[in-house]
Amino acid sequence: MDKLVSLAKRRGFVFQSSEIYGGLGSVWDYGPLGVELKKNIKERWWRSMVHERHDIEGLDAAILMHPKVWEASGHVSGFTDPLVDCKQCKNRFRADDPRIKGTPGQPDAQCPGCGSKGTLTAPRQFNLMFKTFMGPVEEQAAVIYLRPETAQGIYVNYLNVLQSSRQKIPFGIAQIGKAFRNEITPGNFIFRTREFEQMEMQFFVKPGSENEWFENWRAERMKWVEGLGIRREKLRWHQHGKDELAHYAKDAYDIQYEFPFGWQEFEGIHNRTDFDLSNHQKHAGKKLEYLDPKTNERFIPYVVETSAGADRTTLVVLCDAYREEEVKGDEASEGGDTRVVLKLKPSLAPLKAAVFPLVNKDGMPELAHKIHDDLRRYFNVFYDDGGSIGRRYRRQDEAGTPFGVTIDGQSTQDQTVTVRDRDTLKQDRVSATKLVDYLTQKLAG
Ligand SMILES: [Zn+2]
Repeated sequence: MDKLVSLAKRRGFVFQSSEIYGGLGSVWDYGPLGVELKKNIKERWWRSMVHERHDIEGLDAAILMHPKVWEASGHVSGFTDPLVDCKQCKNRFRADDPRIKGTPGQPDAQCPGCGSKGTLTAPRQFNLMFKTFMGPVEEQAAVIYLRPETAQGIYVNYLNVLQSSRQKIPFGIAQIGKAFRNEITPGNFIFRTREFEQMEMQFFVKPGSENEWFENWRAERMKWVEGLGIRREKLRWHQHGKDELAHYAKDAYDIQYEFPFGWQEFEGIHNRTDFDLSNHQKHAGKKLEYLDPKTNERFIPYVVETSAGADRTTLVVLCDAYREEEVKGDEASEGGDTRVVLKLKPSLAPLKAAVFPLVNKDGMPELAHKIHDDLRRYFNVFYDDGGSIGRRYRRQDEAGTPFGVTIDGQSTQDQTVTVRDRDTLKQDRVSATKLVDYLTQKLAG
């Protein structure tokens, strides 16, 4: 994991937030390559959810919402963790922290931070929502929250979307957006962060059909994840036991990935029943029923939710692509006999190709610049003329760039270039005029 974190910084995928001030705990910034990778993942999700389906609409709801939303959703009362404080070192721990010896609140309990005995308080409920104030006065009436999930923006807009889009049940609403949780034990790089981005879809169905849709969405989501190029043996399902279920869920499955720090979830499929809509109907005093135009039945729809973390999915893609390899043949003599390579699916890679003049003379830079200009009208491409060609290949291997286009002596004679494949290291000679078609074909999928 340390190697991946260091590569992520070196190549500009992920930086620690506010690093020059010593960093901000469990908050991360995406650099030039990271923002492209995450954007490619989000766009793939949006395309499969919204553009390729007739029964799902998109939405972008605001982060700030009416505070009553979180009373209705159960987050004010239910979204809590039991915590204990150490009166000696002032550190705060989860009450179930395995490092705590003894019973918190009792004299025998030992603080895992400073080692003092009897200094831990009895557990208290701590809400995970970030609080702030709206308007100029910092008083209780002005308290609002940064949303802890994007789903509620979908529920409160369900009637607006239904009526404006003329959809009929079953149908879904999809949204990508930031959410915030004041996690007590965040960590593992971008796995558990306090500010994160969700890709959520709420699918509204007729009561009684939710189990069928639940199975349907489980299958769809696993297919999508496999489409990212993730190794199948690194993926598995985990069904939530009774003690793991969130306060709104009746049934829930996670898709887990085998990270370097163990199996952990990065997406969940949840049966949320009519919990949210019923509660909003009650708290808002607005009817949220659906009138079936065929049968004239009225009902509050059930919801099957697919909830993926954009940051976690990015981490899965990075972890799964990271390889250290031995290199043989010509490339070993040019760039060394080992390499670090990100074997990203080409369509997800931040840079699609890099353009290299073999040497900076004999007309090669001029031709290389022209090819670079042509290519960047279609793809995100990179120009690199620094250092030996072997070292330039290695840098792009670490960036996950699937193709290296080299302009050599022959290129200036016959207008052909070599295209080096990141994974096989094989080189094709391709006519410069056919390069866009050649890459388009290789980048599909
Ligand atoms: Zn302590």
